[in-house]
Amino acid sequence: MNSTIPYGKQHISQSDIDAVVATLQSDYLTQGPKVQEFEEKFAQYIGSKYAVAVANGTAALHLCALALNVDENTNVITTPITFSASANCIKYCGGNVFFADIDAETFLIDIEKLKALIQSKPKGFFSGIVPVDFAGNAVNLEAIKAIANEHNLWIIEDACHSPGGYFMDSKNNKQNCGNSVFADLAIFSFHPVKHIACGEGGMITTNDEALYNRLLKLRTHGITKNPALMHENHGGWYMEMQELGYNYRIPDMLCALGISQLQRANEGLQRRKEIAKVYDEAFASNTNIVTPKYDAGHAFHLYVIQIEDRLDLYNFLKENKIYAQVHYIPVHTMPYYKNLGFKQGDFPLAEAYYSKCLSLPMYPTLTKEDQQYVIDCINKFYAK
Ligand SMILES: *Cc1c(COP(=O)(O)O)cnc(C)c1O
Repeated sequence: MNSTIPYGKQHISQSDIDAVVATLQSDYLTQGPKVQEFEEKFAQYIGSKYAVAVANGTAALHLCALALNVDENTNVITTPITFSASANCIKYCGGNVFFADIDAETFLIDIEKLKALIQSKPKGFFSGIVPVDFAGNAVNLEAIKAIANEHNLWIIEDACHSPGGYFMDSKNNKQNCGNSVFADLAIFSFHPVKHIACGEGGMITTNDEALYNRLLKLRTHGITKNPALMHENHGGWYMEMQELGYNYRIPDMLCALGISQLQRANEGLQRRKEIAKVYDEAFASNTNIVTPKYDAGHAFHLYVIQIEDRLDLYNFLKENKIYAQVHYIPVHTMPYYKNLGFKQGDFPLAEAYYSKCLSLPMYPTLTKEDQQYVIDCINKFYAK
């Protein structure tokens, strides 16, 4: 048995290491050929036309908000059950964040509440929506797009939890998370706990060429070297800084790691689904535990159970070297957001969910024995 069992963990293979070392020995440490290769292979995996690799998932969100011209007059809706970066990206640009409460079964933004919130304000009040495929459960973006179209809103899909996930649309077509068929932009993270690990890394996917070109520019200080996009051209050295951008580049060696990891993405996803099934079956008859309800397209970044005695179980598991985790403390209850005027009680379903949720160990290299140990510990806790 492992010494400790975390809730999530990266897997680095010898071929990952070889890929990084080969890049370290190449001419490029930052923007080399691996960046574009990673972008092309990732876009192909997800099924989007374009992809832009960036420094991390939060940078991806920030760039999306910039590319969509978020400013002080921009009002955007997201879910309270997400990592705070989904909301913070709007604040980076001076915009205003609104939340719609979650659905109690899927833990995703409640589309009826989203609709009601939009309709409660004058037309034109809101500019966009940041839906999140929480835990790996794909948001029905077709339904969100229908509302967005009515009110002329853009959509940034936060797909950090769902590479390889999908939902079935109304025509029974499989829609991959992040394919940007119903969203303007989608973003991913390559933080080590996510499906594909670069250490730090992120990706934006889109089918919109204008947004794609703008993102490339914003990723590197607002500079373009593309002659077709420049106002002037003084020679081979010439480039133009056309707007205020950032340095949100991802180095070539991390892209080499990402490319290598991507080759095992489907394998990892299958393993996550198997682990979920084993938990489902293990807890099916335990009336203390509510297991997640999900469709076949769930990508299982997280396996979240709901229990009444969460703190005791969390502590008991910790004593047994199992580091379960809580995802998430509702964003609106964070002191920063409370200072903006949100308060406890604003989103009761998100708060109720938070009081009971616990993410169990879920990662492709979790062994059958370690998972059984987790299950045995939980059963022991309830047998007390
Ligand atoms: C991880 C994560 C992010 C941020 O990604 P980083 O790469 O850590 O910046 C944003 N949103 C969600 C839902 C995430 O899980």
